[in-house]
Amino acid sequence: MSTDPRTRSWVEIQPQALRRNLRRIREAIGGSSAIIPMVKADGYGLGMEQVVETVELDDPLGYGVATLEEGLRLREAGVDKPVIVFSPIPPGAYESAVAHGLTVTISDVDSLERLSNATTAAGVKARFQVEVDTGMGRSGFDWSTVSEWGPAVAERVCATLCWEGCYTHFHSADVEEDAATMAQWRRFKEALGALEGGPGSLTHACNAAAALRYPALAADAVRPGIFLYGGAVGLGVARPEEVVRVRARVTFIRDVAEGATVGYRSTYRSRGAERWATLGIGYGDGLPRSLGNRGSALLSGRRVPIIGRISMDMTVVDITGAEGVSVGDTATLIGTDKEESITLDEVADLAGTISYEILTGLTSRLSRVWLASEDA
Ligand SMILES: *Cc1c(COP(=O)(O)O)cnc(C)c1O
Repeated sequence: MSTDPRTRSWVEIQPQALRRNLRRIREAIGGSSAIIPMVKADGYGLGMEQVVETVELDDPLGYGVATLEEGLRLREAGVDKPVIVFSPIPPGAYESAVAHGLTVTISDVDSLERLSNATTAAGVKARFQVEVDTGMGRSGFDWSTVSEWGPAVAERVCATLCWEGCYTHFHSADVEEDAATMAQWRRFKEALGALEGGPGSLTHACNAAAALRYPALAADAVRPGIFLYGGAVGLGVARPEEVVRVRARVTFIRDVAEGATVGYRSTYRSRGAERWATLGIGYGDGLPRSLGNRGSALLSGRRVPIIGRISMDMTVVDITGAEGVSVGDTATLIGTDKEESITLDEVADLAGTISYEILTGLTSRLSRVWLASEDA
């Protein structure tokens, strides 16, 4: 681990593991479906530009983001592939989206009207995709009312307004039971069948979980996110390779007698003579506060318990009996150290959330260290 000795805590990212996770998806879906990696929320917290630089080596079709700002950031980074904004954007954002060649996704005729106006204003061509809501309920045209909106969309297509595709989003692709996903798929197919003058050349539905669990639904493209970044996608699918490790330096060590307390509200009390190590990481770095008295860290490949409440800037572990720990040593809060691992999903489960929230919750205080090779 070669990291600036001044750094108190950081995220280590393994680009080769990320690429191997992407290739696992490619193998699952076969050669006839394209891949649109989802790099929204700063590449799930890893760093959007570096994620793109990494997966670009595998030549994906384009990139998926959630906001205008994220799309603009990709353009600033020099991405000239398709960039699709997979959330409705505010009315005032269309002109900028069009001017920078972003593909917007449309959930109602009003937005298409705004896009059309922006095209005229910018004097350029605009691309859009139609979202079909098959049960997710947050955006998209209703799958069952195509006869109402389908013709209205089709009639607005013109030389400057290009209907690029249609997609839906599964809400339960990562659960064991497949009935909900199959029902959504049938609705999507039914809606596509009812569209006249569409649905554009590109139809797609699968997130990472769906791509891996239901490769038959891969259609023209898949939109993987979490699996690329090392988050598991449910039963029956092999785990992704570990991409992210969260590390923190031991910044202080003390020996305590029985009855010493640690942390706000003194929720932990030593049961005898103990040795405690303070780590330079806290909830201000994105370490979930709920891991207090429940989670653990690794020191030299050994698991040690987090004791007391996690503070904004510091976390204390009990290292009694763990020999040879010194100030300046590296602790691992997520990831592998020697033979032992604390997986991203283990931390998420323990914190009562999902891997997505853990990754996107890692704050800017943690520097992102992209490893050049995998020998760390
Ligand atoms: C975020 C997102 C995805 C990726 O989902 P994962 O579960 O991370 O694979 C796919 N499609 C859309 C529309 C999304 O918003």
